[in-house]
Amino acid sequence: MTKPSIAFLGLGIMGGGMANRLLGAGFPLTVYNRNADKAKPLASAGAKVAASPKAAAAGADIIISMLADDVAARAIWLGENGALAGAKPGAILIECSTITPDWIKELDAAAKKANCELLEAPVTGTKPHAAAGELTFLVGGSTDTLEKARPVLAVMSKTIAHVGPIGSGAMVKLLNNVLCAVQAVSFAEALALIEKSGLDRAKTLEILTQGTPGSPLVRTMATRMTVRDYTPNFAMKLMAKDVGYAHAMGQAHGVDFKTAAAALEIFKNALAQNLGEQDFSAVVEPLRKK
Ligand code: NAP
Repeated sequence: MTKPSIAFLGLGIMGGGMANRLLGAGFPLTVYNRNADKAKPLASAGAKVAASPKAAAAGADIIISMLADDVAARAIWLGENGALAGAKPGAILIECSTITPDWIKELDAAAKKANCELLEAPVTGTKPHAAAGELTFLVGGSTDTLEKARPVLAVMSKTIAHVGPIGSGAMVKLLNNVLCAVQAVSFAEALALIEKSGLDRAKTLEILTQGTPGSPLVRTMATRMTVRDYTPNFAMKLMAKDVGYAHAMGQAHGVDFKTAAAALEIFKNALAQNLGEQDFSAVVEPLRKK
């Protein structure tokens, strides 16, 4: 059976790895990235490179995007040379970016008008999981569309969780990230306190990370913050974006997400100190200096 042709839009930390998995699995692949330099490694490996999202989408059976936020996704899907303008009727659109439930619902309406089917498929996992095809997809949309897209999603993932209709994937993803963010800032404050107070850092961290508070996220933060390795797996500016989206989602449902608000304030303080491009674990640095 011939494999469906795929357009992949957005070749950042996550999208680059995901597109590479698809190419490796033999899918005919056309890619687009705003900064064309990021498409070069994929072009060398055999992908076609398009000059616009519209050109990338033209003729593709499946169009996948992995972009920073609502603003980027809107530009890529609905902009003047946006993907939806190039999508053929019957194409399956898969939006993997972490975005708001409101925006994915708007994109769903636009997809229906263009006679396309939309799945949302935000992911958990980070840079190495994207590169190794070990992501978890949090899929929102119809079962029929998911079954058509499953062989493509399978190449990039270890788990495909169908969480409900369009909008559910975005909600679950934002809840996932706000819980990570709150743990990260709470741990960062604890670490600053440990260091300032003169406690035995190694011993204290061993107790905290091996005990009940030692979630996978806290353990990762402990390692990265201790060695001060802030090479971005997940950039601080994107984590701050997700906490902001989660806070707004809480407000929309009558939940005053106070822990999210506190985390957001701490991330904003770090962004103001030019740490936005660093991994979000760098959130500890301003607290250390205080
Ligand atoms: P990234 O490396 O910063 O890549 C962002 C992508 O969005 C790039 O392709 C960038 O293009 C594009 N972009 C940004 N603004 C744009 C605009 N206005 N118009 C067109 N394109 C624009 O981010 P990432 O880490 O791959 O994350 C991508 C998505 O996955 C985000 O929604 C993030 O929250 C989510 N996510 C990330 C992780 C992680 O660990 N990194 C994990 C799970 C989910 P340029 O290259 O031209 O700037």
